Amino acid sequence: MFRCEAYAAPSADAPLAPFSFERRDPTPEDVQIDILYCGVCHSDLHMARNEWGFSTYPLVPGHEIIGRVAKVGSAVTKFKAGDLVGVGCMVDSCRVCSACRDGVEQFCEQGMTQTYASPDKHTGGFTYGGYSKAITVYEGFVLKVSEALDPAAAAPLLCAGITTWSPLRHWKVGPGQKVGIVGLGGLGHMGVKFAAALGAQVVLFTTSPSKIEDGKRLGAHEVVVSKNADEMAAHAGSFDFILDCVSAEHDLNAYLNLLKRDGTMCLVGAPENPTPVASFSLILGRRSLAGSLIGGIAETQEMLDFCAEHNITCDVEVIDIKDINTAFERMLKSDVKYRFSIDMASL
Ligand code: NAP
Ligand code: ZN
Ligand code: ZN
Repeated sequence: MFRCEAYAAPSADAPLAPFSFERRDPTPEDVQIDILYCGVCHSDLHMARNEWGFSTYPLVPGHEIIGRVAKVGSAVTKFKAGDLVGVGCMVDSCRVCSACRDGVEQFCEQGMTQTYASPDKHTGGFTYGGYSKAITVYEGFVLKVSEALDPAAAAPLLCAGITTWSPLRHWKVGPGQKVGIVGLGGLGHMGVKFAAALGAQVVLFTTSPSKIEDGKRLGAHEVVVSKNADEMAAHAGSFDFILDCVSAEHDLNAYLNLLKRDGTMCLVGAPENPTPVASFSLILGRRSLAGSLIGGIAETQEMLDFCAEHNITCDVEVIDIKDINTAFERMLKSDVKYRFSIDMASL
């Protein structure tokens, strides 16, 4: 075991503060990683404040981790000391169920081990995430990251990247399709970049008129301010696919009505409270409402390789760990362009 410095939420209603705990030394199949950067996902905020009802405390958030391998266990074959690597939302799963065999470990029938606040198979406690100096992870859940990518800007690919990439690939978004991305935050800005890179016609929906120019710069062909009913009505019945990346309650029916016949709207945003769906929003036009959870390990590697090939990273504001509570407040106000990335040298 070794001592690891971190920041933790001591309870649902207290700010994050310095904390330290014991990490395990690598087992033969583990990789020990010195963390360089960790992205700040809105899920970290939902979890720190127990908005989904299953948080454990002290809670060390962080599942958009980039670091360098410090050492590897004797049976590790894929990594060596010095490699640039990533860790996302999962650090393990049962490895044998049909979901794990199919490469969708996020749907493991035994429950994946999440990077933080999941029962820890090794310590008997709960897992601690990436707002920390180091992490020890089974090599099967460690990703290779190209040296060509800026590590601070690549960190959020590990959650915001894969969470938008996976549904865009699953619903086969590509040329000839009209695709909507709702909400220009951490997830949404990657949704815009990926949908454009995959060749779709991309429309961004935002509540923030100040983000119109950025939306276009990031790859949207058109930006709609969703509070403007006329602008929304102009797109009625026209979308093949809509990806909803919004973190707070909003009217889903307004977007379902923009789908074509047989179109799909996929939720990745996970607000605290449920939202009503009118049957007629789906019945008229045989539309589908779906959801998607992060992505599997092989698909995450595919996304990282695509990013290296196409020079895609996240737009980040690098912050010191001491500023994390201010960053949470700014994220709540949709005031982040477009992801905070913590420089772990500041810890
Ligand atoms: P974020 O950076 O805070 O972005 C959320 C965006 O939603 C904001 O930038 C804003 O965009 C829009 N928004 C916020 N409040 C709104 C409101 N009241 N009405 C309408 N729009 C609003 O958050 P994120 O990190 O991208 O995460 C987004 C959501 O996805 C969170 O709920 C998070 O927990 C969830 N998530 C899910 C998965 C998954 O696997 N399914 C993975 C990661 C995260 P505009 O300013 O453009 O309107
Ligand atoms: Zn996340
Ligand atoms: Zn499994």
